Amino acid sequence: MTQTLPPGSKIGIIGNGQLGQMMAIAATQLGYFCHVYAPNQSGPANVVAAKSFVGAYDDGEKLKEFAASVDVITYEFENIPAAPLVEIAKRVAVYPPPQALNVAQDRLTEKNYASDLKIRPAPFRPVSSPRELSYALLELGIPSILKQRTQGYDGRGQMVVKKATDSHLAEIWSELSCKEAILEGMVKFEHEFSVLAVRDIKGQFLTWDIPANTHNNGILDHSVVPANDFILQQADAAIKATQRIADSLNYVGVLAVEFFATQFGPIFNEMAPRVHNSGHWTIEGAETSQFENHIRAVCGLPLGSTALTAERVEMKNLIGAQVNTWEKILSRRNNYLHVYGKGTAKPGRKMGHVAKLIKRII
Ligand code: AMP
Repeated sequence: MTQTLPPGSKIGIIGNGQLGQMMAIAATQLGYFCHVYAPNQSGPANVVAAKSFVGAYDDGEKLKEFAASVDVITYEFENIPAAPLVEIAKRVAVYPPPQALNVAQDRLTEKNYASDLKIRPAPFRPVSSPRELSYALLELGIPSILKQRTQGYDGRGQMVVKKATDSHLAEIWSELSCKEAILEGMVKFEHEFSVLAVRDIKGQFLTWDIPANTHNNGILDHSVVPANDFILQQADAAIKATQRIADSLNYVGVLAVEFFATQFGPIFNEMAPRVHNSGHWTIEGAETSQFENHIRAVCGLPLGSTALTAERVEMKNLIGAQVNTWEKILSRRNNYLHVYGKGTAKPGRKMGHVAKLIKRII
């Protein structure tokens, strides 16, 4: 479907977290109405939705009802079954294409997909038992990282394997409690970064400036733009790799691809077929935010400029109790506070973020 959806149209968003909230805010500013679908109606996106639908992500009938109420469907996270969306896509456009979900929600499929496109992932082996794990360790060495193939996020569902004794492997395997996993060799990286890109229905492909990302316990802590020279030297190769992924999927919307910057060039870590935490800085730090360009892309509108609005932009996630520093954050100039309205500030929970603009350009 290539038609332009004019303001006033209805956008369906699957998922009701903060990404859905920021997407809906951008859409509402452009005059669209967002209907949000999730298993509950207490998420950050429900607060700004024109209408909320409650249903399981695999409930084909409820999803059809939801689909009948909107002009286009998008989603804010990748751990939703693709099959019902493939069905729905026969009647209403679903962007990014559900095929992107099939690739991104399984770490093994994702890494094979990247390899087929001549993009280098960390060395990996599929494993489905402690015995297979011990063989894979022989090849990839110690330490390596054992990850669930599906459903892992924010560092959850993965463990570092530090010893190869049978008892340790059995213990790790039962702690991970999944049937299918992947063992990844430990990449010696200098830095982590992501490519944030948007592709429209006609195939126009734009990227934002590359953020350098710092993680803490597997969770993004902060992103800084511009990235350092070490990363910037690998930017071109990483952007080309991202474009190959986007083109091969006939992708529409924002796509984020995370890389390790190593002495041997960029190593593919993972992709997210959606707006991404490492792109939150674009709300104030770019002429058009990732959220607005995602909405523009899925509605068939022209994409907006991704140019920087400041010489340097820093984004810090407010995790758990860090959100309680909101008053201090607000007392400083050029600080932009976002609080997602999630209620209890549990440890490890992303409660908000703050963006800081240094030396404004416009
Ligand atoms: P992931 O959820 O796979 O992105 O992993 C979360 C974080 O764990 C990454 O951002 C890295 O900091 C670290 N990590 C994951 N995989 C590897 C790897 N193969 N080698 C080194 N560090 C890794």
